[in-house]
Amino acid sequence: MSEPIDLHTHSRASDGSESPAEVIAAAARAGIHTVALTDHDTVSGWAEATEAATALGVGFIPGIELSTQVFDEQNDFEPHSVHLLGYLLDPEHPVLVEEMVKIRSHRDNRLQLMVDKLAKDFPISWLEVRAGIPEGATPGRPHIAEVLIAKGIVRDTTEAFEHILAGDGPYHVPHYAPTLETGIRIIREAGGVPVLAHPLSRGGTPLTDVRGPIDEAVARYQRWWELGLLGVELHHRENVPEQQPALDDVAQRLGLIVTGSSDYHGSKKPNPLGEHTTSPESLRQILDIATGVRPVGHMPAGV
Ligand code: AMP
Ligand code: FE
Ligand code: FE
Ligand code: ZN
Repeated sequence: MSEPIDLHTHSRASDGSESPAEVIAAAARAGIHTVALTDHDTVSGWAEATEAATALGVGFIPGIELSTQVFDEQNDFEPHSVHLLGYLLDPEHPVLVEEMVKIRSHRDNRLQLMVDKLAKDFPISWLEVRAGIPEGATPGRPHIAEVLIAKGIVRDTTEAFEHILAGDGPYHVPHYAPTLETGIRIIREAGGVPVLAHPLSRGGTPLTDVRGPIDEAVARYQRWWELGLLGVELHHRENVPEQQPALDDVAQRLGLIVTGSSDYHGSKKPNPLGEHTTSPESLRQILDIATGVRPVGHMPAGV
C-alpha cells in the first residue's frame, strides 16, 4: 500500500512510551500517510498531535480507546473487559467527558491496589510506579511493567503480562468501565464512529470472539450493531488468525466497517507502526459518518 492508514496508536497520554508529537513523527518516519491517536480513556493528546501532524504533513484522525465491559449472561454474568475505539468524536461532549474522568479515577485506584498486592512479593512501591506516570495520563498495567523491568524483575512488557500482570493472575484488580452498550451510545452521541478493538484477542472474551455457530456470532454482533456499533478491527496482531474469516463474514453480513491497525505503544509493546493497516474505503466510510470533529490534514488517495 502506498499511502498506509494506521488507526490505533497510544502515546504518553495513556500507556505509550512517546509523547503525542513523537508518535506523529514516528508515523512520518515509518511512511504512514494517516494515523489515529487512540489513547485509553482520554483525548488529552489530541492538541499536541494535531500540531505535529500539521507541521509534518501527516493526516491525523483524533480517536480514543474506551474501556468497556460485557457481562456473560450464560455464565453468572461474569464481566469481560472489551476495548472500544471511537473516531472523530466531540471531545467536549459532557457525557463522554464525565465517563472518561470516572474511568481514569478508578484506574488510578485500581493500579494502586495492584501495586499494594505486588509489594507483598516484590520490591516495588506505589511511589515508584506513580513517578513514572505522566501528569494526567491514563494509568495502566504497562506503567507497573516499566518499574518491574527497571528493577530486573522481568525482561520486558511481554514477560510482565505473561504472569505477574496477567488479567487472570494473582495480582490483578479489575477497574470500573461502562458497559459496551453504554460505550457505543456515548461515542455515537458525541458524533463519533465506534469500532470494536481487537475482538479476537488471545484470552479475550467469549462474547466478542466468533468460534462456534456463525449464526450465534451474527446474533451477538447484530445486537451491538442495532445499538450503533459501526465497525470491527479485523486486522490486529492479537486477533487469532483462525477466527478472522468468520469475523469478516459477520462484518459483511451486517455491513460493519472493517479496519486494521498496529496498536503501537512505542517501546511499551513490540507492535511496529503500520503492522496492520486500514483500507482507504473503510476510512472513507468512517469520515462519511463522523460528525464530532473533522480530520486534520489531507486524506490519502481513494478516501
Ligand atoms: P490495563 O489498561 O491496565 O488493563 O492494561 C492493559 C494494557 O496493557 C493494554 O491496553 C495493552 O496496551 C497492554 N498490554 C496488554 N497485554 C500486553 C502484552 N502482552 N504486552 C505488552 N502490553 C500489553
Ligand atoms: Fe494500551
Ligand atoms: Fe486495546
Ligand atoms: Zn490499544
